[in-house]
Amino acid sequence: MKPKLYYSREEMFILNRDKLLERGVTIDDISIIAFNQQKRYYENVEYNLCKESVEKILSLRDIFHLLQLGVEIDRLAEVGAFNGPIQDIIRYDLGVFGIDEIFGLDIARLYGAIGQTNFGDIDVNKPGIVEKLNHDGKGDKDSCHTFLDDIVGAIAAAASTRVSQIMSENEAARKDN
Ligand code: MG
Repeated sequence: MKPKLYYSREEMFILNRDKLLERGVTIDDISIIAFNQQKRYYENVEYNLCKESVEKILSLRDIFHLLQLGVEIDRLAEVGAFNGPIQDIIRYDLGVFGIDEIFGLDIARLYGAIGQTNFGDIDVNKPGIVEKLNHDGKGDKDSCHTFLDDIVGAIAAAASTRVSQIMSENEAARKDN
């Protein structure tokens, strides 16, 4: 059988959405982080714009590859499928292991320096689902979310930054600006 390598944006969105759901993360969990981050700057920011931004980002090819790979790494570490030292390093989320942050930074980089700064804020303050993933994946718990917490935080940061760009566009279009 011919291997399937190419996916449409619609297919990538659905596969990403379902992969997140398998790991207990909804689109609303991510959208609310983007919304709360932008609410600090724009009091009239709309939740639907945040959700639409998360959905758009989940349909991008680079995000598809990073999300699908990162979640599989977590799952494989959960079942002890890696050989050598990397098994425990990933499974127990070693603090100085930075490859999961690289995944996050790469996602956030889609939206430039501000995207990465917004990711840093989420990475440090761990709002909502990011804190839950971090907590549920630590130590001897059954689940491993070493990569997922960064991926989710970075998608929220990218969506948040997209929203701020749209809000800036709207501001620029105002006649009295
Ligand atoms: Mg992590």
